[in-house]
Amino acid sequence: MDKVKVIYTVGYGHSGSSLINAILGGANDSIAVSELIKLGHRIRKLGNSKILSNRGKCQGCRENIYNCKLWSQVLKEVPKDNIYFQNENFLDNLKISLNILFGFPKINFNNLDDTKLYNSIIKNSNKIYDKNINTVVDSSKDPRRLKYLQKNPNIDLYVIYLTRDLRGVSNSMEKRGKNFGRTYIIWHIWNILSYITYKKHNKNKKIMISYDKFTQNPDKYLKRIKDKFNIDLNMEDYLDNANKQEIHYIGGNSMQKKDITEIKYDQSWKKRMPKWKQFILNMICYIPNKIWVYNKKL
Ligand SMILES: [Zn+2]
Repeated sequence: MDKVKVIYTVGYGHSGSSLINAILGGANDSIAVSELIKLGHRIRKLGNSKILSNRGKCQGCRENIYNCKLWSQVLKEVPKDNIYFQNENFLDNLKISLNILFGFPKINFNNLDDTKLYNSIIKNSNKIYDKNINTVVDSSKDPRRLKYLQKNPNIDLYVIYLTRDLRGVSNSMEKRGKNFGRTYIIWHIWNILSYITYKKHNKNKKIMISYDKFTQNPDKYLKRIKDKFNIDLNMEDYLDNANKQEIHYIGGNSMQKKDITEIKYDQSWKKRMPKWKQFILNMICYIPNKIWVYNKKL
């Protein structure tokens, strides 16, 4: 059996994965599904209920996932037990984080085969789209999920590790009511887990991208992804292609339905934050930003 090709984005939330997900989904041989990790949670939590909150809907067509023309077909083919479920149990999550950091405790990563799910997404998208799709773009972002995928020999896995200026991320999180201290700590833990998982990946199949650098020169980075990951992305019309794409996303926010008119370097945090706060932030974010975001290697 042929391996199934997956492009997986790992990194902290609010780091620009929606934009990159949308652009790559516009490639002639790819389908973007956004945060596929949320599918398992959704079907277990909602069962077959026809009355769903917004969160239970396909974020593209806004239909219940059991009525959406893509996901209804996928869910008919793939048994529930074959769909990864992010456990919300604190101890289980701690275990896998420790396993990524230190290699113990031992975890059986082979107890789940996602190949069926990815293959079904490709097969059913080819019925909907007028393209020749052979790649799923999954921007689930979770490093623990990435670890599972790396252990699966039937997945041809490409990884994008995405980082973004901690000041921009905090600003974005603050707008959603999350305080800075919390963001600061979790951002570090998440990036350490992401980096270790990313580091162990085959060097020919991975790219680390700083979103802040990406937005200043998107063509350069998209070309790099296109060449290294061997995808059929049209460099002249990538925004148009992303916008005209019919989408069926799992997870992500409804903003993703809006058209992308331009890609711009976002420093809105500077306008929003009082000067004294910027001063403190500039100091405590200097080193982490230098390592993860403004690193010369990126
Ligand atoms: Zn849909």
